[in-house]
Amino acid sequence: MGKSTLFNRLTGSRKAIVDAISGVTRDRHYGKAEWNGYEFSVIDTGGYIHGSGDAFEGEIRKQVELAIDEASVILFVVDVTTGITGLDETVTQFLRKSKKKIFLVVNKVDNNERIAQASEFYSLGLEELYCLSSINGAGTGELLDVLVKEFDTSKIEPEEKLPKFAIVGKPNVGKSSLLNALLGDERNIVTPIAGTTRDSTHTPYKHFGHDFILIDTAGIRKKAKVKEDLEFYSVMRSVRAIEDCDVCLLLVDATQGIEAQDLNIFHLAERNRKGIVIVVNKWDLVEKETQTTKEFEEAIKLQIAPFRDVPIVFTSVFTKQRILKAVEVAETVYHNRTKSIATRKLNDVMLPLIENYPPPAIKGKYIKIKYVTQLPTHAPTFAFFCNLPQYVNEPYKRFLENKLRENFDFTGVPIQLFMRKK
Ligand code: GDP
Repeated sequence: MGKSTLFNRLTGSRKAIVDAISGVTRDRHYGKAEWNGYEFSVIDTGGYIHGSGDAFEGEIRKQVELAIDEASVILFVVDVTTGITGLDETVTQFLRKSKKKIFLVVNKVDNNERIAQASEFYSLGLEELYCLSSINGAGTGELLDVLVKEFDTSKIEPEEKLPKFAIVGKPNVGKSSLLNALLGDERNIVTPIAGTTRDSTHTPYKHFGHDFILIDTAGIRKKAKVKEDLEFYSVMRSVRAIEDCDVCLLLVDATQGIEAQDLNIFHLAERNRKGIVIVVNKWDLVEKETQTTKEFEEAIKLQIAPFRDVPIVFTSVFTKQRILKAVEVAETVYHNRTKSIATRKLNDVMLPLIENYPPPAIKGKYIKIKYVTQLPTHAPTFAFFCNLPQYVNEPYKRFLENKLRENFDFTGVPIQLFMRKK
């Protein structure tokens, strides 16, 4: 259908790049894109649609439904070479019921003849029609220009200034149990069957001097039939929850260790530059010797490298062990993520370190970093002003990042460095 090509184009074209992670089971299906200063997520349901699609009533329908729920804007991609298919008509009827803005994207419009053919799709009755060729990129820019106008940034953050923590993780790690343990019995019933609890929600928490919003993804709205399907839902929910939060409590199952799916969620959080606390739950089920905790920690850090500066808490929701500790650590991470270091202090610490170990000269040119300042962004971002910013290499940037971490405690927080021309 070409959706995946379009997806790659949106998340991977030279201008719209940030990056994309590999999907849970098949192709990549989630990526971050940027256009004209707007950063947004692209979710591709394409990789999940099996077979020819005559079975819209089944899995596809559920997936499309969920995607509609989660999305701000919907791109409905059709193929000019096949003309209008039965599935296109069914999906159109279905999409019309949603209140979301729909862009009909006619793909594979690679030449003039096909431009003419594309007008056939007006008969679907969707207002906005865009032709593009995701192979050569024609039309992508025009689409993106109108697309980003739909993003209502004014709606973001009128909410209280309370820290927002999201409980995320793959199915069955104990998310609902943790939520219930924190919120008490007033909330919900946990069932031992994965994916049978409610939708993701924002719940205020106010106890023992802690005051924050909990976002949980525990709920997967429909009982998923197959494992793959379940993963799809849980990742979809995670994307939204992660975008909404300041800090993620990433639950992993102590009896399984960190697996690919846990890492996917970890990288989602990292790429969204959210704070992260890794919560190793079901610790009661692990047989412990003196080194067990340490070994576990080391194993996790190996897996999450290079971003290793992440706190790890070992909990048992079952015995209520260290549940509040997890919350306190999240609060520390929140603080690390929101604090700003005075420019004076930053330079007093960093400039001597840089002087001691300057960036390597390139092509006989000396690189001189003159000063550094933290930018007033949501997540910690530092600008280093220097004569030849383009020559500062990755290893040196890592050195700078490590020094920032050593001196200013950004545990649990992804940080960004920019080299700027003085
Ligand atoms: P979710 O899918 O991530 O929301 O996971 P649930 O909260 O539904 O928990 C899945 C299963 O693991 C349930 O049977 C829980 O009782 C169990 N569980 C959760 N936390 C713990 C724990 O700390 N220790 C043990 N032994 N079981 C747990």
